[in-house]
Amino acid sequence: MIPLFDLASQNARLHREISAAIDEALLTSRFIGGEKVSRFEREFADYLGASHVVSCANGTDALEIALEALGIAEGDEVIVPAMTWVSTGEAVARVGARPVFADILPSEWTLDPQKVKEKLSPQTRAILPVHLYGRSAAMAELRAICDEHRLWLIEDAAQAHGGTFAGARLGSLGDAAIFSFFPTKNLGGLGDGGAMVFASEDHARTARLIATHGQTERHHHTLIGRNSRLDALNAAVLSIKLPHLDEEIEQKSAIAAHYREALGDIVCGLPALDDRSRHAWHLFTLTHERRDALAAHLAHRHIESAVHYPHALPEQPAFARFGTDPADCPVASHLGRTVLSLPCYPGMGPGDQAAVIAAVREFAR
Ligand SMILES: *Cc1c(COP(=O)(O)O)cnc(C)c1O
Repeated sequence: MIPLFDLASQNARLHREISAAIDEALLTSRFIGGEKVSRFEREFADYLGASHVVSCANGTDALEIALEALGIAEGDEVIVPAMTWVSTGEAVARVGARPVFADILPSEWTLDPQKVKEKLSPQTRAILPVHLYGRSAAMAELRAICDEHRLWLIEDAAQAHGGTFAGARLGSLGDAAIFSFFPTKNLGGLGDGGAMVFASEDHARTARLIATHGQTERHHHTLIGRNSRLDALNAAVLSIKLPHLDEEIEQKSAIAAHYREALGDIVCGLPALDDRSRHAWHLFTLTHERRDALAAHLAHRHIESAVHYPHALPEQPAFARFGTDPADCPVASHLGRTVLSLPCYPGMGPGDQAAVIAAVREFAR
């Protein structure tokens, strides 16, 4: 079976260092907070070229806490792309605000700035683009809209560690950004983990306070917070993995370029790339009108594939009460019916790449 990801061999390459970190964690038994966590926050901030990184328990918490730290609450609206992982819309609803879904661009698959403009209302407080599959959203256009209407720009960069836009790292462009360190993400831990990035020190301080029970000093709580922490062991592992991130993205870029070249002449959709930015290649995706049959054909050839994601968020029952008619986001719905992710991971050998290409060509001929 050719897998979609191969975490086991990726981790095996760092086995000695990761094992040593686990041994050290057992020895010190300092599992929460401490130097490993602050060190990773510093290193990740340096990597991004960002000033303030606040770690937390997962990417969904990061979204929720970041929204709360920016003061978004009941009565507010946040514009979210109709095609994304559920967390993006869920977090907005969780802080009591209304997720307003806007359609995506037909060839980039990220938030369509024109559709965003049509969704603006006096209640709009923020725009929350997603760098879907690792490709930068239209940040220049979205920044212009935010500046004109005095809105927060919040990047969901959970799929985009290592990507860039106009020379800057994704996650360093917004008023806030969030990352997930879920194991299969570009930078993944040994379990759940997440981080928030803020342009303002005040927002970072508020977010850290929310994530640590609103505790300013021991047993003194100034606001109703919660518990959302990155484990020290996970922080140590992320510090081990971070220096390899760029090299891993290079490897995935080469595979993606190979796929694009070898599949460019057959009937399937490939995302439009942007010269100004580096795709982070969290996922290599294509579209095909007979997607389910293509997936079945690949499975028959022992090739794993997956759908990210089969439904636009306005189609989900959980979001029905927010009143976006799914028919209002036809591009996102169509992507849900046609998109397929193919195996693409660091260390994937040329033989496996050739097998994937041959199987797709055989089907799509
Ligand atoms: C993975 C992901 C998240 C949430 O991350 P978790 O760590 O799984 O909570 C949020 N947004 C997007 C786009 C994601 O892909």
